[in-house]
Amino acid sequence: MMHSDIISSIFSFIVNAGYVAKITSIEHLKELEDDLAIRKRKDKFDENFYKERLTSFKFTTDTVLPDAKSIIVIAVPQPTVVLIFRRNGIDQQVIIPPTYDYSVNIEIEKRLKEIIKPEGFNICTTSIPLKLIAVRSGLAEYGRNNICYIPGKGSFFRLMAFFSNLQCKEDIWKPVCMMERCKRCKACMLACPTGAIDDRRFLIYAEKCISFHNEHGIDFPENIDRSFHNCLLGCLKCQIVCPENKKTVKWFEVGAQFSEFETSVILNGISLKEIPYSTQKKLDRLGLIDDYSLLARNLSVLLEPS
Ligand code: SF4
Ligand code: SF4
Repeated sequence: MMHSDIISSIFSFIVNAGYVAKITSIEHLKELEDDLAIRKRKDKFDENFYKERLTSFKFTTDTVLPDAKSIIVIAVPQPTVVLIFRRNGIDQQVIIPPTYDYSVNIEIEKRLKEIIKPEGFNICTTSIPLKLIAVRSGLAEYGRNNICYIPGKGSFFRLMAFFSNLQCKEDIWKPVCMMERCKRCKACMLACPTGAIDDRRFLIYAEKCISFHNEHGIDFPENIDRSFHNCLLGCLKCQIVCPENKKTVKWFEVGAQFSEFETSVILNGISLKEIPYSTQKKLDRLGLIDDYSLLARNLSVLLEPS
């Protein structure tokens, strides 16, 4: 098959699965790196945030796919996941934002390989800034809250990108832009409990963002009140109020129920090795194993907010 036929097969799979995708030339990889450097100079990232979140990217394909010719960027719709924790005889609901279920990455990688490997081509996973590549490739636009929005479909999407050695004919590369709607809307800014969104600059103050703090293990800063927390990981306050999410904001799926015993085991920070195997499996299915060490702290502020 020709490159274009294989790309058509990939897009048939993407569309049939309800995903959205774009493909762009590998030539733009260096521009992604430059974009980040420019943004760092212009908007002054918080140093801790920069070191933790933005220094692990790899802007080369030399060791993973030396003949890479394109980048395939995919957005997969995901629901908000509801977990039910039983505590003191009462069931309490706790949510995980869409986008945290990474098991879909493995499924999609497998499926793409099934399509292209028999034709003598290959893909591999990447470590590049996903929101930036989604915007530059024309797949998404930034919101004022720096979240990526798929035009007309909202922000409840998990992003992923793959390098491939397929040549893409259509090479889209767009400027970094914010949604048109954000020019006349400040709903996210008003809803953010920490003041992380500032309409005088493009970047949010990541160091004030709840997601940055509850996704790593350092104590919460004092200026983040316990009552501000709203998700087991991450924060949804600015996306829930966004008019672009009107259609998906009520898309919930129950992920799991935790018994009184399981809840107390998690809250007491019992080590992963010592918790029941069935609870481990449950956490694994939810994609929470890697973040287990954060759960005692994060769950306690939700179940005991005062
Ligand atoms: S809430 Fe309004 S300003 Fe914020 S991202 Fe959505 S449309 Fe843009
Ligand atoms: S994720 Fe939460 S803390 Fe971060 S900008 Fe949005 S509302 Fe503010």
